[in-house]
Parts: sequence; structure tokens; C-alpha cells
Amino acid sequence: MKRTRQFFYGLGLGAIVILLLSGACTAPKQGYDILIKGARVVDGSGNPWYPADIGIRGGKIAAIERVLDEGDASEVIAAQGMIIAPGFIDVHTHVDRGILQNPSVENYISQGVTTVVGGNCGGHEFPLAEFFAAAVEKGIALNIAMLAGHNTIRREVMALKMEAPTAEEMSRMKDLLDREMRSGAIGLSTGLAYLPGVYSKTEEIVELARAVAPYNGIYASHIRNQAEGISGAIREAIAVGEANGISIIISHIKLADETIWNRPELITGPVEEAKARGLEVYLDQYPYTATSSGFTSSFPQEVFEGGKDKFKERLNDPAVYLRVKNHLIERRLTSRRGINKLQGILVAECRTFPDYEGKNLEQILELLQKEPSVENAGDLIIEIEKAGGASAVFFQMDEADVETLMRLPYLMIGSDGAVQVRGRGFPHPRSYGTFPRIIGRYVREKGVLRLEEAIRKMTSLPAQALKIKDRGQIREGMWADVVVFDPQTFEDAATFASPHQFGRGPAFVLVNGEIVFNQGGWTGRLPGKPLFGKGKTG
Ligand SMILES: [Zn+2]
Repeated sequence: MKRTRQFFYGLGLGAIVILLLSGACTAPKQGYDILIKGARVVDGSGNPWYPADIGIRGGKIAAIERVLDEGDASEVIAAQGMIIAPGFIDVHTHVDRGILQNPSVENYISQGVTTVVGGNCGGHEFPLAEFFAAAVEKGIALNIAMLAGHNTIRREVMALKMEAPTAEEMSRMKDLLDREMRSGAIGLSTGLAYLPGVYSKTEEIVELARAVAPYNGIYASHIRNQAEGISGAIREAIAVGEANGISIIISHIKLADETIWNRPELITGPVEEAKARGLEVYLDQYPYTATSSGFTSSFPQEVFEGGKDKFKERLNDPAVYLRVKNHLIERRLTSRRGINKLQGILVAECRTFPDYEGKNLEQILELLQKEPSVENAGDLIIEIEKAGGASAVFFQMDEADVETLMRLPYLMIGSDGAVQVRGRGFPHPRSYGTFPRIIGRYVREKGVLRLEEAIRKMTSLPAQALKIKDRGQIREGMWADVVVFDPQTFEDAATFASPHQFGRGPAFVLVNGEIVFNQGGWTGRLPGKPLFGKGKTG
């Protein structure tokens, strides 16, 4: 049966009517499985849009013509007034953590995302062979490429040891990384502000990254310092790539401390020097002024050596406790600009104290009938961490910096989000809103980016950085990962106070030529697949 999907966009309202027409039960031999009619094509290259019909056959883009004949198609999507773009490629996620339990990944497909990269910031689902096998067996809604994480590998071999690896430990880490690359990883990620990566020296990462070079792997880094030491931390990431002849992605770039606000040259300086030397360097960014991580990374990291029990034991020593508390007060809770930091730190998810979720530190202290002082906030963070920890949201960026960095031609969009279960906790809204927010807020409202340039940062640029050759552009022969959306209404809705919200999303999202999302919901299909790196054997 032939079906035609027709959009009526009167007064900006997205009523969608599906017309059922009679027709052939199967597509003609040279026909299309799906024909998308009358959309404006933003092809991902950054070039201006053009009008065309797009025919999809066998999961790939088979034809792009000014007018294609409807008679040749099993299903027709009428998309007048809509944009058709390559499905968005999110270079920076932690989706591997929950995708096997939530294979529809609705908080991503509802944004028009068709490919995600998992395993960022040094942590990945280990071992990858098992992860990929389960993803294939269960089915997933979107495509996933994976990085292998240094923290995961170091923990496997050395647990939470602070020392540099012995020759034997290094060789085991390299063997593990080689195994992950042969299971299909696309490169190595580090999280040098997290355990145990924070204990490693540059030499260790340079040596370990040698294992990805034979497979043309990439190096993606959550760098060691995103505040006053940021230039040095960027140089460290570049050194790892340069020593091994591999390309570099600096993850979730930001001027993350008020002491370096309005100083983008701290980032562009070292990056552009490296690019001038011929290195391939990319940045990714999420479009918000708040970060999110566990409280763990706010502590002096040596207190975690040897694990959680050791941490609690150490904090029983009053001298250690005071030093830790002063560290938190100085680094996290005090502002030189007179900003109320207690109001700018929200507890996102906390198993032990669910009452704290969605509240800022000031509100929690109020709840506990304590004075909202930095001392009490320091005690509170320590108490939470001792009781099992919490994830938190930290408002610490400046909007003008977010926009300045967004304009850099080598910057890509990456959510840094994860699979979300609706209603659970108060996660950072980036997991729901990143991509529609770029279009709604930064293209349409603020004019920071042209539409075509914004799409390039979400499609062909990440494909180039990830060395994916058959996705990220609307071109004949490419996989039919596409998003169809109304440029007048596409926008995010998730906020910090109410994060579990899909925005005014795309009309349609196709992954490998199959419709995974329409009319505001998942279609029940799971056509996504793992995208393997060059090392994949078997
Ligand atoms: Zn990170």
C-alpha cells in the first residue's frame, strides 16, 4: 500500500495528516521505499539550501532531483516548507551507559539525532565486544560509535592507584585498548579530571594512545583543567595527538570559571597554533551555561586513592576534613565576582537523599534548617559524597563565551548527555534539548549561526572528525539518516527546573532509511547499528 504523509503548517501549527492512497504493494524495481517531496535541502556541507525531492531506497539516499515522480515510491512524505538535513551526529555522549536498557533513546531521536558517540570522558561500557553484540542483538534506534575510555582501562588494570603504571601495567593497558580497537572502537577518550585519569601524567596518555594509531583512531579528551590552566590542558591533549599522528577532539569546550570568562584566546591560541602546524583539532560544545558532573570531581582527588572506604576513613581525620572543606569552599563555593554559588549548584540525582533532587544548595540548607553559608554548604557536599555521592549541575559559564566559541568553524555540537528515563531525577537539560536549542535559540532567535552553518556543525563536521565517510551529508549513496523539521518551530523545551521535556521536535527522523520518529514519538523501530572503527576484526 502506498502512503502519503502530508503536512499542513497553517499558522505554525504542526497538524499532520496521513493520507492513505491506493497503489502498488511493493515498490517498482527502480522505485523508492520512501520519497520526501518538496523540502528545502540543507545538505550538511554548509552550502545554502536548495529545493529538491529525495528518494530513499535500501536504506540509502538513491536520488536527489528537483522533482521526482511520486508514482515510483511506496511511501511519500510531503514536506513543503520543511527543512531536510542529514540526521544529527552527536560527537559527545554517554549514551552507551543506558542504551541497552532503553534502546529507543527517545531523548535523542526526538532531537533529530541519528548517530551518537559513546565512551566519552574516559569511561565506556566494557568490554566493547559484548556491548556491541548486545546492541546488535537487542536492536537500537540510532547508530552508535564508541570510544574506549582511559579511566575504564586504567581501573581494570590498576584500580585506583595514584602511581604511574609499571612497564607491565602499561603493556596490559595497551593490550586492552588494542582489544577494544579490534572490537570496533574509533579511538581513545580520556577524562583527566576524573578518577583515575586524574592520577595519570601526560607520558602515560601519549604512550597509551600509541595503541590507537595503527587503526587511524582519534583522541578525544575531557581535559585536565577547564579553568585558569585551560591552555596548558589543551596543549597536553594536542601533545598526545601530535606524538601519535592522530586527530584530536577537545570535549565540551568551555571557559568554565569566572576567572577566565571573556578570554576565548586561552582556547583558540593553542588550538590554532596546532592547526597551523597541520594537526587536525576539533572542539565540541553543548549550548548551555551550566555544566554537570558528580560532586566527586570537586574534591582534591588524592582523597579517593584506593577507593570509597579509604575516602571515608581519611575524612575521619579532622585535619583532612578541614583541608577538603576549605578546598570545596575555595574552588566551588566562593566567587570573586560576588556571584551566589550556592544558588548556582543544583543536585541533579541523589539516591541517598532524593529530597535534594532539583534543589540548589541554598534550598537544601533551608530544608535542613541551616544557615546558607559556604561553611555549611561545604559540610553538605562532604556529607552527600560520603553517603554515596550525587550528580549536580553547576552554573559556571558566561553566555557571551558560549556564543563566541560556538562561532568557531572547527567547533561541533555535542550534548555530553545520556539516556534519560522520563521523570527520573533532574538531569541537565542538554540530554533533551541540545540540537533543537541550537536551531531555535542560536539560529532563529539570536542569529549567532546561519542555519546551514549550524547544521554543518551537527553533521558533516562531526562525520569528518570521526572519519565516517558515508553519513553526515545529503548526497546520493549516503546512508539515509535524515531529519525533517520546521525551521520556524523547531526548539527545545527542557529546562533545569523541568528537564524531562521533548521540545517542538522534528516532523520525521529516519535512521538507515527507516522512520524512527514521527508525530512526536518513537515509531517502535530499531534500525540503528554500531559504527565500527577501522580496527574491527571479524
Ligand atoms: Zn566530560
